[in-house]
Amino acid sequence: MHEWALAEGVVNTALEIAQNKNLREVKTLLLKVGEIQQIDLEIFDFALKELSKDTILENAEIKYENFTAYLLCNFCGHKWAFYESFNQLNEEEKEAIHFVPETIHVYIKCPKCGSPDFEITEGRGVFIEDVL
Ligand code: ZN
Repeated sequence: MHEWALAEGVVNTALEIAQNKNLREVKTLLLKVGEIQQIDLEIFDFALKELSKDTILENAEIKYENFTAYLLCNFCGHKWAFYESFNQLNEEEKEAIHFVPETIHVYIKCPKCGSPDFEITEGRGVFIEDVL
């Protein structure tokens, strides 16, 4: 399970950060989640809580913040924010991208030249913003 492996990495890293900061207990774990990520947040959140049991992370409040994804056109070099294109899609298309991010190339084209050949340069994955 992808979410569990990811959660394990986050918990281990958060504990390391907490140790370096000499925290006795973690009150808040602030995470940044990319706009284009393939994790089920509900499972991920559950996994985090399970893996935090009996650690100083156990009672931490977990906060999630989105971070903006950027797309870079391979044809004309234009770079734009994912949400600019995403907001123009209908609900069905939005859902398709949410569940299968690879379909992004089907629904989104470069706003400048219309090419479907672009890369996701930022906006994937989960990062620890802070451990408090
Ligand atoms: Zn382009």
